[in-house]
Amino acid sequence: MLRSILLKLSASNGFANWVTSNGKTRSMAQRFVPGETLDQAIAAARQCNNAGMLVSLDYLGENVSTTADAQRARDAYLEIFERIAKEKLNANVSCKLTHLGMDLSVEFCEGLVLSVVERAASYDNFLRADMEGSIYTQRTVELVKRVRARNPAIGTVIQSYLYRSESDVKDLLAYGCRVRLCKGAYKESAEVAYPKKADVDANYVRLMQLLLSSGFYHGIATHDPQMIAATIRHAAAQKISKDDFEFQMLYGVRTDLQRRLVKDGYRVRIYIPYGLDWFPYFMRRLAERPANVMFFLRNLLR
Ligand SMILES: Cc1cc2nc3c(=O)[nH]c(=O)nc-3n(C[C@H](O)[C@H](O)[C@H](O)COP(=O)(O)OP(=O)(O)OC[C@H]3O[C@@H](n4cnc5c(N)ncnc54)[C@H](O)[C@@H]3O)c2cc1C
Repeated sequence: MLRSILLKLSASNGFANWVTSNGKTRSMAQRFVPGETLDQAIAAARQCNNAGMLVSLDYLGENVSTTADAQRARDAYLEIFERIAKEKLNANVSCKLTHLGMDLSVEFCEGLVLSVVERAASYDNFLRADMEGSIYTQRTVELVKRVRARNPAIGTVIQSYLYRSESDVKDLLAYGCRVRLCKGAYKESAEVAYPKKADVDANYVRLMQLLLSSGFYHGIATHDPQMIAATIRHAAAQKISKDDFEFQMLYGVRTDLQRRLVKDGYRVRIYIPYGLDWFPYFMRRLAERPANVMFFLRNLLR
């Protein structure tokens, strides 16, 4: 119920204006978003690299409503790949297709994505198309397959809460596509997504096994110790090397677990978002954990 309310509020402009103009909430958001500028994100990425972790930089933004905004986002992504190379960071980039104009036209969005992927490939790097709400799933999978056919420096994300995900995983694997597996962060109806956490988790384990056994390099994105333990068990049983997959976690979430996995020799990539448009991302992080909401409310009332 609380999760639903928060995810609904994440689309409210009035609430967004209030939260983003409030000094207290801005400083609370810094737990998940290390800064509003690329320089701040680069500094956070360097700290992660120094701690033995890989990074994925995400320039925050979604659902742009003009082609000019989408082109500005494209330019920002082109710049990130240049900075990563210049700063010699071990980092790739994640983006949302609605930030690159998916709501305006799939063809237009595809053109922008291709130019970003070509820039990524020119630096021997990689672009990950995040997965958004289920109304975008089909378009995202199809677009990524088409772009990948022209340039393989792109992968996408699959959410274990969706019923359709096993078929999407098999489809993407047939194209040799790299996948990030996560549980899913959006508000979805029982018509398309498992309502019960136990089913989402069971599907996560099934999909993780399919991915790891595929022979391609994938990202297992979760902070759930049970999902991580299941992954480690499966990799050991199938003699899959620690270098043949990576764990992925969000900046500011379970840093203890991040460090422990690195210490145990696993590859760990930290997702580092930055930018002015942090409100919907912040709301999704609050919605994932009731304790975050209590922390948020306590600080506001203090
Ligand atoms: C690298 C990465 C990329 C992602 N990309 C996408 C994407 O493209 N599309 C998408 O829909 N979702 C994405 N997600 C979010 C994901 O779908 C989940 O909503 C989120 O990871 C929480 O699920 P969990 O697997 O950690 O398990 P959960 O069962 O939700 O959480 C397990 C434990 O992790 C900790 N935890 C989890 N979330 C939080 C939090 N916000 N604050 C504090 N502690 C927390 C808690 O200790 C919790 O008990 C991504 C997640 C990661 C890690």
